[in-house]
Amino acid sequence: MDAATPFPTPPGLRLVGFDGDDTLWRSEDYYRAAQADFERIVANYVDLADVHERLYAIEHANLALFGYGAKGMTLSMIEAAIAITGARITASDLQRIVDLGKTILRHPVDLLPGIREAVAAIAAEHEVVLITKGDLFHQEAKVRESGLADLFRRIEIVSEKDAGTYARVLGEFDLAPSQFAMVGNSLRSDIAPVLALGGWGVHMPYHVTWVHETHAELPDGTAARLRAAATPAELPAAVASLAAAAAASTPGDTRLPSATGAPA
Ligand SMILES: [Mg+2]
Repeated sequence: MDAATPFPTPPGLRLVGFDGDDTLWRSEDYYRAAQADFERIVANYVDLADVHERLYAIEHANLALFGYGAKGMTLSMIEAAIAITGARITASDLQRIVDLGKTILRHPVDLLPGIREAVAAIAAEHEVVLITKGDLFHQEAKVRESGLADLFRRIEIVSEKDAGTYARVLGEFDLAPSQFAMVGNSLRSDIAPVLALGGWGVHMPYHVTWVHETHAELPDGTAARLRAAATPAELPAAVASLAAAAAASTPGDTRLPSATGAPA
């Protein structure tokens, strides 16, 4: 490395992304409650042990059409109820299912204890962005209600959180993955794709996780770029630990796209 070659940007962590649902505010609890109510409605027609799995199979098959969120789940519940009951479900019970979806959409935003303080502490050291996926209208409402929007430099509401999405966001910030850490509850959506790109992650598990978000394979050799936090209060120290590791490793990283002219 030629010491005379300046880096256009300082080495180390430059941007910290936060997931929204079940990282900043509660979400999965409301979906779980709606699903339990759905199963009680369907149980009036059929006695099946696998209602749970049949609903998920339909939800999963519909994701590519409906995307994530409560509205897609509502349509999938209606489709599943018709299929599971052999089309015997009544219009009034279908209305109850629609109302379950509306209940999810109307739930008040309930921040995780200590999250505002944690995001503010991290924002004092790094640029922070919110990267959340799901229904645009619902996510916008949650961001607005959360009272956290002022802490974030930018809010990205995306349809899928995969490596391509993160690469696009980082490209817009003119940052390399090695300058980015993501904080979230989902290994599948928040952690694995960022580690795969060469970034950093802080996993903060939520007490319940949608089965879809639990399917994740972390890339080999990335454990050193991952930290765990049990509560929001642990997030600033976890990010500080990653920042120290990033500061130590970034100068040798030749993947910096903005380091034009830097020797390979
Ligand atoms: Mg989440």
